[in-house]
Amino acid sequence: MKRVALLGATGSIGRQALEVIEANAGLELVAAASGSQPLDGLAPLTQVGGDLTELLERAEPDVVLNAVVGFAGLPATLWALERGVDLALANKESLVAAGELALAAQRGGGGRILPVDSEHSAVFQCLDGRASETVDSLVLTASGGPFRSRTRVELASVTPSEALAHPTWSMGPKITIDSATLMNKGLEVIEAHFLFGLPFDRIEVVVHPTSVVHGLVRFRDGAALAHVGYPDMRVPISFALTYPERAPTSVAALDFTSGLILEFAPPDEENFPALGLARSAGEAGGSAPCVLNAANEVAVTAFLDGELSFLAIPEIVERTLSAVATPPAGDVEELLAIDAEARRVAKALTRVLVH
Ligand code: NAD
Ligand code: MG
Repeated sequence: MKRVALLGATGSIGRQALEVIEANAGLELVAAASGSQPLDGLAPLTQVGGDLTELLERAEPDVVLNAVVGFAGLPATLWALERGVDLALANKESLVAAGELALAAQRGGGGRILPVDSEHSAVFQCLDGRASETVDSLVLTASGGPFRSRTRVELASVTPSEALAHPTWSMGPKITIDSATLMNKGLEVIEAHFLFGLPFDRIEVVVHPTSVVHGLVRFRDGAALAHVGYPDMRVPISFALTYPERAPTSVAALDFTSGLILEFAPPDEENFPALGLARSAGEAGGSAPCVLNAANEVAVTAFLDGELSFLAIPEIVERTLSAVATPPAGDVEELLAIDAEARRVAKALTRVLVH
């Protein structure tokens, strides 16, 4: 029996994880947490808001599924890695913002990261433990979001409700907006860099509108392995929670007789500058990814609140990155201070750009 602590239990990933846990007799939900929504006896131990590491201490889980949204997920990520507890990681923001600290925590504590993000789960499965010198490059697929092939002029007036209508995935609001700006794919490039230890020039992004191919690995012998399946997060959630067993799920097998369309195209980095901003922040290193993430969280919230235009999101991120120093953070306190400063600057810029 694997003891699971589920953080972010009321969210999109959280609810699908509950289904997976419910359907698998080998998984036991021992603790559940949310940010503010009530949990009403969902698990033996529950917590709404506050310091999630207190809950984890009491729960003694075998695996922590971190499905909190945003930088707020960081303490739980570090807690699991420091203690050598398996970390099923959906909360990409913690690894993006604190990649170096997370890897140091992992080296110290021996915690394993089992990616839940579909692209990273796909790559993890294609790699299947092979050494990085056998790998030529990774390819992360992007649906392109609801505004694929729109011009800059058309993007200027899009509304939150249009941006929330994702063509292939049903997800929480923050990641759905990130998918529309392509910042999600930018965060995923940084996430892949820390998860798989490859330099940024060997992590490629390709637009694939039907979201059937989730990720690929090109190997040095010229072969490329791809992970394919219908877009359904229960697959990577179940894979991470039952690793290495690959337990059955109720997800339908891929039907190759019903007109599957496998199209690929390069991303439009001119109209969707967030992807390039993230790549540059990743390459710059230090705390640049933390500043990028903080500014993006502020800008996305302002966009969802109707205060900011869609095109202002990457603008806030770019301007914050130019205004805030991004030295490497020596410890979590330093990183928290940099995150706070980036949020302060991004909020000030948001007030200027309010439409
Ligand atoms: P969501 O908004 O639907 O849910 C977020 C959850 O986090 C909620 O349960 C909320 O109560 C909780 N939460 C927020 N702040 C908290 C805090 N301070 N303390 C404790 N809990 C808090 O988001 P989601 O779509 O489920 O995404 C969760 C994470 O998974 C994100 O990092 C996202 O990028 C990642 N992810 C999601 C998907 C998806 O399909 N939804 C796919 C890949 C990765
Ligand atoms: Mg993803």
